[in-house]
Amino acid sequence: MRILVIEDEKRIAEAIRRSLETVGYIIDTKANFNEGFHSALNPDYDLIVLDRMLPNHTDGLEIVKLIRERKISTPVLLLSALSEVDERVEGLRAGADDYLPKPFSIKELTARIKVLLRRPKTHLGNQLSVGDLRLDSESREAVRAGRRIKLSRREYKLLNYLLHNQDRIISKAEIISHAWDADSIILPNTVEVYIGYLRKKIDKDFPDRPALIHTVFGFGYRIGEETSTTVKVID
Ligand code: CA
Repeated sequence: MRILVIEDEKRIAEAIRRSLETVGYIIDTKANFNEGFHSALNPDYDLIVLDRMLPNHTDGLEIVKLIRERKISTPVLLLSALSEVDERVEGLRAGADDYLPKPFSIKELTARIKVLLRRPKTHLGNQLSVGDLRLDSESREAVRAGRRIKLSRREYKLLNYLLHNQDRIISKAEIISHAWDADSIILPNTVEVYIGYLRKKIDKDFPDRPALIHTVFGFGYRIGEETSTTVKVID
């Protein structure tokens, strides 16, 4: 999961970054309106944490309005020292998904982010699942057919992303942008290698169970129970 944090107060931005990175999210931070708006236009973010009061008297709420006008539907969590009910309503009307008044606890922020990211129907509590495979976001462990599967940090991020997008074809470029840091140089081959590791752990080690990770030649990958090639392509 890749999260954009638009917040000019460095101390707060760094605190958010540190705690969200320990939960396994990839964080990019921007400290002013223009850079924030520019980044928010990138539909690859899974969530945006957005401060309302930005430098030079700009209002983060305008970023929400502008991206919604452009049909960017990334969930937005607004932060603001303005905590009156009217401000909150204004934020939600503009298209934000949640509103957290400052000062807030990082714990609450993290909890609300998890809720916003928990959109797929197959998400139960801290678990994502497909077929008989479950992934626990607390223990970062996968379990298939009752057997525990140990995952490396990268494998976890990759599987987590696949499970949030099940039954959709995901390109290698998309995987790189969601499971690797912005500054790492990743070749499409690296994705193949990691898909190979995951496939060994969740499919090949369970030869009597149906394969879950499917290669869609020329496009990318898909995770799901169905092996048929007639899959939904959602753009
Ligand atoms: Ca601010």
